[in-house]
Amino acid sequence: MSANRTAAPMVIVGAGHAGVQVASSLRERGFADPIVLIDAQARTPYQRPPLSKEYLNGAAPDPAPLRHRQFYDSNNIQLRPVQATRIDPHARIVGLDSGEQLEYRYLVLATGAGNRVLDVPGADAPRVRYLRTLDDARALRENLATATDIVVIGAGFIGLEAAAAARKSGCRVRVVDTADRVMARAVSPATSSRMMRVHSREGVIFHLGRSVRELLGTGPLKVRLDDGTTLPADLVIVGVGVTPATQLAQDAGLTIENGVSVNEFLQTSDPDIFAIGDCASFPDPRATTRTRLESVQNAVDQGKFVAGHILGDRAAYHALPWFWTHQYSTKLQIAGHLSRSDESLQLGEPEAFSILHFQAGSLVAVESFNRPGDHVAARRILAGAEAPTSAQARADGFSLKLYAQSMIAGGRPETQYQSAGSAPRIDADGVQAR
Ligand SMILES: Cc1cc2nc3c(=O)[nH]c(=O)nc-3n(C[C@H](O)[C@H](O)[C@H](O)COP(=O)(O)OP(=O)(O)OC[C@H]3O[C@@H](n4cnc5c(N)ncnc54)[C@H](O)[C@@H]3O)c2cc1C
Repeated sequence: MSANRTAAPMVIVGAGHAGVQVASSLRERGFADPIVLIDAQARTPYQRPPLSKEYLNGAAPDPAPLRHRQFYDSNNIQLRPVQATRIDPHARIVGLDSGEQLEYRYLVLATGAGNRVLDVPGADAPRVRYLRTLDDARALRENLATATDIVVIGAGFIGLEAAAAARKSGCRVRVVDTADRVMARAVSPATSSRMMRVHSREGVIFHLGRSVRELLGTGPLKVRLDDGTTLPADLVIVGVGVTPATQLAQDAGLTIENGVSVNEFLQTSDPDIFAIGDCASFPDPRATTRTRLESVQNAVDQGKFVAGHILGDRAAYHALPWFWTHQYSTKLQIAGHLSRSDESLQLGEPEAFSILHFQAGSLVAVESFNRPGDHVAARRILAGAEAPTSAQARADGFSLKLYAQSMIAGGRPETQYQSAGSAPRIDADGVQAR
């Protein structure tokens, strides 16, 4: 490698949860070379999760910065409000919209994702809102304060969190989704029906298995569905998923496969260019297919991993996925991969419980409702080598917390529970209950 290349900085494109984490972890671990962190947004990078939760009700100040401004200066991280427009992997250069060309030693793409746009006639009306940035959330919060009838298109996490905020603001809320259950991509059918019940109890009306045909009008809108139903809306909130921001990588000739494709070390098809966070798809040893995740955990863990890899760590990426959402007074936390579940068991009380998911009798995922202790224990258990079997979990006295504690103490958890004799009950959601 030439002396010139050694002096070139580490360049990170995208200062969201992933990009900021790489820069922070590199400095925390003693990386001394220059770091340039660029982002098209001019703001100090901030937390995104509050934008669809407490912030929307006007109950919270602007979300906290990921790191205070001073952190970047005192750690010699050059945070630059510019857009990357081009990568030349052969010359090892990133072109910026300022006209500047930035040479790099390593390049990290942490470009995130953009909202998928509703593609029906009338969808460009002014009272149709999306939610990704602080500016989006500010505009939506202002609209919510005066709106009466809201239609939320998309019953995923963002759509349902926005629906909960709209109900708290006193609006009438209708939710439309083409899927026949809520949060269908990310949670089990039992959790879908539970969360739907929570919303229905709060007065939200669902139109599931329905698609939007057109939006009529400009002021008060009418949302026409495929069955002919027309829903009144003085505000429409669209949460129909995201598209990974892959254009830069694609133009540079890097492999794209539902995101920028990376290997087990999070390297793209050019080994000196990494891709992490929402924009990247990776070979996840815990899943059956290549995975792309949209979560803070994934962005942060991948950021830490790339910093370590650049500093000489050689293990493959193997982090446990986890996620949370907060709707009304329900906190749902998920650990592990639900796609592998072929058997479920519910533990706990009616308003605070966990659903344990097993594959071939071994624990692979846990969904916890208002049971943060279970969630923490589940993460510890699933990240370790000795997940309990479904037979162990059905034994009298089994608890995730006790199991996790016994793992830490170095005991053999399986000797501490006796097998339950009776067959488990099945609750209303089709989940076996204890
Ligand atoms: C409203 C909302 C609520 C959420 N709530 C939760 C939650 O409760 N729990 C959870 O786990 N996850 C949540 N998420 C998801 C989570 O925020 C994302 O998964 C996470 O932000 C991904 O981090 P990232 O760094 O990959 O991408 P981002 O945070 O999206 O950052 C990407 C950055 O790259 C910049 N960029 C892109 N292209 C360029 C370019 N060419 N040049 C310069 N800069 C560029 C963008 O401006 C952006 O700032 C939420 C997301 C949203 C939008």
